[in-house]
Amino acid sequence: MKIGILALQGAVQEHERALDRLGASHVQVRLPKDLAGLAGLILPGGESTAMARYLEEYSLGDEIQARAARGMAFFGICAGAILLCTEVDGRSGALGLLPASARRNAYGRQLASFEENIDTRLGPFHGIFIRAPRLEPRAGTEVLAYRIPPHEGDAVLLRSGKVLGASFHPELTDDDRLHRFFLELAAS
Ligand code: GLN
Repeated sequence: MKIGILALQGAVQEHERALDRLGASHVQVRLPKDLAGLAGLILPGGESTAMARYLEEYSLGDEIQARAARGMAFFGICAGAILLCTEVDGRSGALGLLPASARRNAYGRQLASFEENIDTRLGPFHGIFIRAPRLEPRAGTEVLAYRIPPHEGDAVLLRSGKVLGASFHPELTDDDRLHRFFLELAAS
């Protein structure tokens, strides 16, 4: 089983290291042909507007959507999750594979970056947030992690079928549970 990491822009290496630790083979994805034979694709954090532009320029978006329809798994982190959402800041999202809305940079200047423990379906997790979007699930999407008190309620990890979107950065910790969970999804 091979996993692709979208390598147009943003934090790619940290995901390569996580997959290495889990013994999963991986390739960097820049062109539509790079998607051949992949069970899953990680869309890393970075700048979603820049990445959305590249997706269009390299005709990658259409190919990703076609592969999604055939069962490929996706894990979007922060900007990557924004690319997956059906709605972004009140408009249609770039890929529209995760029924959810994203509000970019929603935690404001003071909280541009923060770290806190979060409550995930896989147990407590250290959440690292960097200019994170606020994610809201739409019908059919489940919430796998929430911020805890005093910020309880905000969804920070969403899942719809084989599509996962996180507003925090699991690749910046050495806790590989979410990558492992994604590998299981991709293999299913
Ligand atoms: N703020 C970025 C965006 O809107 C996301 C930041 C990140 O990926 N860490 O695309």
